[in-house]
Amino acid sequence: MSKNRVRKNVFDILSSIGLPVILGGVFIVWTVYFLKNPVIFFPPVAILVIILYYFSGPVYSGVLTVFAVTVGLLCMVFIDDTSSILIVLLEIVWLISFYYVLEIYSTQYLSMRNRMCEEYETLDREITFKDSEIIENNKKTDAIIQQIENFQTMGRMLQTFEASLDEQEIIEKSGELASKFIGSGNWKLKKNVYGDVFAKYIKTTGLPLIITDLSNDRRFSMTQNKYFSVIAVPVEINGAFWGILRGTSPKKNAFEDADLRLLSILAGIVSTVLNNTYLYRTIQELSITDGLTGLYTQGYFKERLKEEMKRARINKVPLSVAILDIDYFKKINDTYGHQAGDVILRQIASLLRGRFRETDLLSRYGGEEFGVIMLHTDEKEAGKVLEEMRISIEKERFFLPIESYHPVQVRITVSIGFAGLEKGSAAIEYELIKKSDKALYKAKKTGRNCVVRYVNG
Ligand code: GH3
Ligand code: MG
Ligand code: MG
Repeated sequence: MSKNRVRKNVFDILSSIGLPVILGGVFIVWTVYFLKNPVIFFPPVAILVIILYYFSGPVYSGVLTVFAVTVGLLCMVFIDDTSSILIVLLEIVWLISFYYVLEIYSTQYLSMRNRMCEEYETLDREITFKDSEIIENNKKTDAIIQQIENFQTMGRMLQTFEASLDEQEIIEKSGELASKFIGSGNWKLKKNVYGDVFAKYIKTTGLPLIITDLSNDRRFSMTQNKYFSVIAVPVEINGAFWGILRGTSPKKNAFEDADLRLLSILAGIVSTVLNNTYLYRTIQELSITDGLTGLYTQGYFKERLKEEMKRARINKVPLSVAILDIDYFKKINDTYGHQAGDVILRQIASLLRGRFRETDLLSRYGGEEFGVIMLHTDEKEAGKVLEEMRISIEKERFFLPIESYHPVQVRITVSIGFAGLEKGSAAIEYELIKKSDKALYKAKKTGRNCVVRYVNG
């Protein structure tokens, strides 16, 4: 048997005997030793009771007390001295009281400690609960802040979107808006149904569409696709199908019913904006005067040209048509801004008004192009008037309100192309405009700032 083994066995035996037995042994030896002098018997017993109480609880210390009291009573039999008997008796009473008080206090202490432990545990649970609540609330706050930021961005986007009057621009911006409104996905606003099976489906059924897994959707039987999820809603203008607003995703189950609701709201906005565009276009076509310059619109110009040509042919009088185009106008916009460009357009219009006769018909033919119908004017005379016009524009100083105290001064030149309807000629109005356009093209090609008459070929 090894030394370690022996040590372990001794330890095991000692452990199995236990602390109370060891203490009991020590106590017996000590009792026998102090039997002759029982007066000093009880204070060490009290100390032992406390130690036992502390380590083993009330049972062993109680047994020890009973034992000590018994021994004390037995001792009294052997003592002759009356005063010593009295002292031992007092000590017995004292030990019993001591144990009793110890028991009361320790019970109170234990129950208090248990209560505190329970309260501590409750508090701990509450703190953990509150902590998780705080984390949850923080998450919610972050999500709300993110949502507010998204709404602000959406608001800004919607403002520019609603101001759009160009169909192409609306088509491009709708995708951007959808990705901000709903999130990831490939978004498209598609006009008509051509080449789009989903658009055909929606046009036929009139219903919005949400597909979670396209490879398993019998309606479309499309097995090979770059995407699995599809969401689409109809865009209608005045109740008639215009196209669809569609999102696709390479993931399955990418869209939910809530996305469909948002997409429908967006489709409503898109529809209103598109409708505005078409209304604006119609108003432009129907209106006689251009809002910026006050000159006639292109539509009215063409109408009048038709009438005036008819009249000129009947009356056998000449008539000339010219188109003026500002040279390098884009540069003005790029350098000083669109508003400065508008100021120039207005100033040119007012110069034209001042220069041409009351009977001549002036129009804003396009963006920075002006059309003129000169009644009773043959090509020769028209050339002269137009050249004078060109020179006076060249000489003019145009002031741009860039800075309120020091307005910028710029010089402008124009290129002019013109063609005439000779007496009794049977040319149609489109032809005259086409000829003027060709002459204008030539003017641009030959260096700008000049007047060019249309010549055959
Ligand atoms: P060119 O000498 O070849 O005519 O050059 P350009 O720069 O004048 O011609 P271009 O056709 O490249 O540009 C015409 C510009 O006119 C582009 C457009 O921004 C501007 N424009 C068209 N309509 C308006 C308008 O109503 N207001 C302003 N400020 N600019 C306009
Ligand atoms: Mg132009
Ligand atoms: Mg130009």
